[in-house]
Amino acid sequence: MEKAQLGPSLIQALRPAWTAGAILAAAVLAAWLGPPLPPSLVGLNSAGPYTLIAAALAVAAWFNRERAFVLSLSLLAAFAAYDFVPAARVYSAAAVLVPANAVLALVFPERGARFGQAWKWLALLLCEAALVYVVRDALPLESFWLRTPPAPPLVSRLAFAAALAAALWRAWPNHTPLEMGIAGALGAYFLACGWWTDAHVYAVFMAACGALLLVAVLQESHRMAFRDALTGLPNRRALEEDLRALEPPYVVAMVDVDHFKKFNDTHGHDIGDQVLKLVAARLDETAEGAARAFRYGGEEFTVLFRNAHLAEVMPRLEAMRAAVEMHKMTIRGKDRPKDPKEGAKRRTAGAPAKPDFDRTDQLLSVTVSIGGAEPGKRLKTPQEVVKGADEALYRAKERGRNRVSR
Ligand code: GH3
Ligand code: MG
Ligand code: MG
Repeated sequence: MEKAQLGPSLIQALRPAWTAGAILAAAVLAAWLGPPLPPSLVGLNSAGPYTLIAAALAVAAWFNRERAFVLSLSLLAAFAAYDFVPAARVYSAAAVLVPANAVLALVFPERGARFGQAWKWLALLLCEAALVYVVRDALPLESFWLRTPPAPPLVSRLAFAAALAAALWRAWPNHTPLEMGIAGALGAYFLACGWWTDAHVYAVFMAACGALLLVAVLQESHRMAFRDALTGLPNRRALEEDLRALEPPYVVAMVDVDHFKKFNDTHGHDIGDQVLKLVAARLDETAEGAARAFRYGGEEFTVLFRNAHLAEVMPRLEAMRAAVEMHKMTIRGKDRPKDPKEGAKRRTAGAPAKPDFDRTDQLLSVTVSIGGAEPGKRLKTPQEVVKGADEALYRAKERGRNRVSR
């Protein structure tokens, strides 16, 4: 079972990385295999990167994405600076400052690019430019740290390593496309810095930086539009997209948490949210690639089985119901001691034998009711089948909840 889940989920999780990888691969091919630009098109060497990085900057600002904003702004400044003043000191300063800015943006939580955030970053970049201007003749370009070759210089390599680590650390738990794209753009800029003396190769990789950031922001926005923020499941909009292109045979199941209002009233909205996450995780797990679970809204979920008939799906729905019921949720007691030693003392004094369970903790059990339906004589369109599943769900509730009906 573990293995069956790992395959598709890993492929799904790495989907944003595929896009970044494809753009990087195209850039590598264009840089080394592509024919040199004819004289009439040499202008593309600067127009390409300017256009793509500026587009990434605009989209990042529009979609309020701070990290993409900071990186594209820094890249635009770096490209313009070297375009206007093609000197080793400008190159070295940019090769250090761009990844350093990325580290800064990545270690702080994402705060968006509005409400003064954008101005703060602009001010920082202006300060950096002023600093570079003031110390330009004092930059120890022959020192061990700033010397090229190797290009980029050592201090820049360290900044790149830190920025890449920070981007991967941010991307890791949820495989966020934006942070993966940022990691890719840092990689492309690293390559650009490595070949800065070749105008064509430098331009190709700078353009790739812009393309990577642009695509990453768009992917992130797509994800936000079609995923539910609380549970991480695809949302109702995603369900509607799937329903549009659905061909029989298929099965729609509606899932509703039993007595959820009571949960909220007794334990508070936060615990209610945790219950929703728990139910979502169980449904997603039991779906196991054969089905897709959605958050329909509130405490209602939908599970969609393609190429399946209701008779064969009923046992799976029963397994889903049981999986939710079996999973007990621990609610931390209010006077639970913060000190683990004190907690252990209390636990040995007669609490249940569950590890990490305090006497004041509570084990909660959640149940769901499920209604299933498939297309037939009465239910023709997917919308009618969803309605049919809703009616079946109502019957499950009528019959006493914590059961599956058709
Ligand atoms: P039944 O067994 O008949 O389904 O009873 P119920 O209490 O679950 O039914 P009802 O649909 O009346 O209650 C749904 C409640 O779910 C109402 C609302 O307060 C709560 N709710 C909806 N969305 C959320 C959410 O995102 N988070 C939390 N914590 N509560 C939510
Ligand atoms: Mg409900
Ligand atoms: Mg309910």
